[in-house]
Amino acid sequence: MTTIERARARAEAGERLSLEDALALYEENDLLFLAACARAAKERASGRSVFYTVNRHINLTNVCSSNCPLCAFQVEAGDPRGYVLSLEALEARLASARAVPGLSEVHIVSALHPEEPFSYYVEVVRRVRAALPAVEIQAFTPVEIVNFAKMTGRSIESILSLLQAAGLDGLPGGGAEIFSPRVREIICPKKATAAEWLAVMRTAHGLGIRTNASMMYGHVETVRERFEHLLALRDLQDETGGFQAFLLFPFHPAHTRLGEEYHLQRVGAWEDLKMMALSRLVLDNVPHLKAFWVMLTLPIAQLALGFGADDLDGTIGEEKIIHAAGAQTGTGITKAKLAAMIREAGYEPVERDARYQAVAGGAR
Ligand code: SF4
Repeated sequence: MTTIERARARAEAGERLSLEDALALYEENDLLFLAACARAAKERASGRSVFYTVNRHINLTNVCSSNCPLCAFQVEAGDPRGYVLSLEALEARLASARAVPGLSEVHIVSALHPEEPFSYYVEVVRRVRAALPAVEIQAFTPVEIVNFAKMTGRSIESILSLLQAAGLDGLPGGGAEIFSPRVREIICPKKATAAEWLAVMRTAHGLGIRTNASMMYGHVETVRERFEHLLALRDLQDETGGFQAFLLFPFHPAHTRLGEEYHLQRVGAWEDLKMMALSRLVLDNVPHLKAFWVMLTLPIAQLALGFGADDLDGTIGEEKIIHAAGAQTGTGITKAKLAAMIREAGYEPVERDARYQAVAGGAR
């Protein structure tokens, strides 16, 4: 058997793929074969259901000490465009969130503010928990958690435990980018390392904090580095079982130094869908694969449902980070629209809570 024959046989049978298998399937570029295998894998994991949720995003600050070339969101301290959400403004957001019917999840990610103390972030979580007692709080990337640990001199476990005690339920899973040190040196040299990112996730899973995982592709990484990244996630999942879902982020180059220096263009729909299918096949132990419509656009997110994705994420309401990098998508969507997109793809829409349990009253 040749390498590609073995890879195709494994993909079709739902067997675990090696790095060489994944590379061979990528090179072969048989998109519809990958779609069929990924759809079969999705249906083994979640049947005919495709999930969506009612959520809200909050970005607490855009002032960042990391200055990553990949980023269009951050500004440096002292920049007039910088903001920090005051606790009073947070209360106003929470009052409007309380009025959202069926709100399941609040998602909070931010920049690494050089001066805002850790106590501010703990207070934010406490206030969200007080205002929305039944809502899942998914907050802070591992990059932010590492920053809190460095700022306070506390361990990762201590930071996560304090946030958990304040009401944190999960980590949304961003900031992973590509684990290769070569790539990180170019795209985010000051950010937490891959080992730190993985260590935060391992610790979180040990504390019973559910998390997502992610990868940002389509910049200066090689295809091999993408699959090495996925295999590192798969290895940790074998160890802990704590990743609930995986998200793929195509890089949006607009307004970034990285995009400008390397003359990067946003990858096309073919690449998005090929990576979606291959992620479903490589990450055979992660139950859910999100097609995050804000990043992908609505048409590609809907098509991704034929390439192994089983979750369109949520209604969102507001998003600043990806839109700073030129995303043309809206900042919110109704659940009726999400449900209609899922039905059109031939699947059954299921409004979920943060644990992927169906909630009553979904737009079916
Ligand atoms: S990607 Fe995150 S850590 Fe890097 S500059 Fe932007 S906000 Fe800061």
